[in-house]
Amino acid sequence: MTGFIDNRKIEEYLKKADPPDSKELEDILVHARDLKGISSEEAERLLLVDTEEGIDKLAETANFIKESIYGKRLVLFAPMYVSNMCNNECLYCAFRKSNKLISRNTLTLDQIAEETEALIDQGHKRVLLVSGEGMGKTALDYTIDAIGTVYSVKRPKGNIRRINVNIAAMEVGHYRKLREAKIGTYQLFQETYHEETYRKMHKSGPKSNYEYHLGAMDRAMEGGIDDVGVGILFGLTDYKYEIMALLQHIKRLEDKFGVGPHTISVPRLEPATGSDIASDPPFPVTDSDFRKIIAILRITVPYTGIILSTRENAEMRREALHLGVSQISAGSKSDPGGYTKKDHTDAQFSLGDHRSLHEVIEDIVDLDHIPSFCTGCYRLGRVGKDFMDLAKPGLIKAHCYPNAIFTFTEYLEDFADEKLKQKGYDLIERTINGNITQLKLAEGVRKNIEEIKKGKRDIYY
Ligand code: SAM
Ligand code: SF4
Repeated sequence: MTGFIDNRKIEEYLKKADPPDSKELEDILVHARDLKGISSEEAERLLLVDTEEGIDKLAETANFIKESIYGKRLVLFAPMYVSNMCNNECLYCAFRKSNKLISRNTLTLDQIAEETEALIDQGHKRVLLVSGEGMGKTALDYTIDAIGTVYSVKRPKGNIRRINVNIAAMEVGHYRKLREAKIGTYQLFQETYHEETYRKMHKSGPKSNYEYHLGAMDRAMEGGIDDVGVGILFGLTDYKYEIMALLQHIKRLEDKFGVGPHTISVPRLEPATGSDIASDPPFPVTDSDFRKIIAILRITVPYTGIILSTRENAEMRREALHLGVSQISAGSKSDPGGYTKKDHTDAQFSLGDHRSLHEVIEDIVDLDHIPSFCTGCYRLGRVGKDFMDLAKPGLIKAHCYPNAIFTFTEYLEDFADEKLKQKGYDLIERTINGNITQLKLAEGVRKNIEEIKKGKRDIYY
């Protein structure tokens, strides 16, 4: 037992268990279609599915669950890297302290404002602020100033309405201050739950303390942060071990705080300058296993957002949409200042999807999904347990569809060319007719679309 991860139980299970037969698989998937989630024991059985036919069945169920709960919408955001200075030695990352092959940079507040302008002018409304752990005692004050700067930038076509952050583990008091800065979700990836692997991969620096890193979400929630986002860096150890441990982590948060994580991120290791491990992962996750991982997560924790970044290529991102991914980044850069400069040699890792936000949006529309920049829940205080209480009886769709449509209409009016406008409004019409069954709600949505066309902005339910 390390902290709350029951290492021995996981290892013994993985040594002994056989894949489920078709009857057992069918029973679990029928249960999953109740939309209430499945037990950890059932999820563990799904992890052992090892045929393409079985994985296809998982994928079908995951798609059913995603569409029943959230509908056909996909939330978009952009990461903003503010510093690549770092005192840690994470062997997979280009930002690690001893890597001399990249140049180092921490953005000034003016530069952060310029990056924000560039993102707003592309059409973004949601930012994920990302940073290395290189600023010591000044890190929190800098982050809070950076958040204030991003929120303060107003452009003729809008502003950033929600900032999530992905920064190093902290003390409870620091999380409290971060909350006061009005962040959305606090994200921190465990990278690997396997302690021995963790120690091998994190050679030195504050992040090398496994227990401290593992306890970060407890401290964040104790500090009053309502929405936390967890993640695993796939490729470091057996993905089955990681998912079983992740489920233990989720249960821990649910038992202790009455609510689990708001999001789960699923990065796979990508090549990074100066890292051998990143180019040659010890436990590579194949595309087929990756599909299985996303589908199992969607089936097991139906009300938790699943985030996929531009580490993945366009094809995998298209497929992941049908497996239950609910948020993706788009038009991303993984280096500080990346949106206002041309040279990207100091990036954190190589991107798999280089398309612009516009191209990604066109693609999502062609896949019959509404691209959403919605920030409604967070701004109306539907966070943490309140969000889950609304999501669990299936009521969230009544907010997701209208809010997705309103923010997409803003995008069409402010940023789209005629071709996309035509396709986009056709999709909106089909979505209202096919999915918003309450007459009054549909009427209200149509009325608000007209208001947006006339110039009104930022409508949300
Ligand atoms: N420095 C903080 C930390 O490590 O928690 C937060 C930001 S870090 C820049 C964001 C995430 O990038 C890490 O948690 C890790 O999972 C991911 N990452 C690092 N190197 C990567 C690589 N080579 N491929 C894919 N993801 C990587
Ligand atoms: Fe630093 Fe985060 Fe990269 Fe580790 S993963 S080297 S902590 S930026």
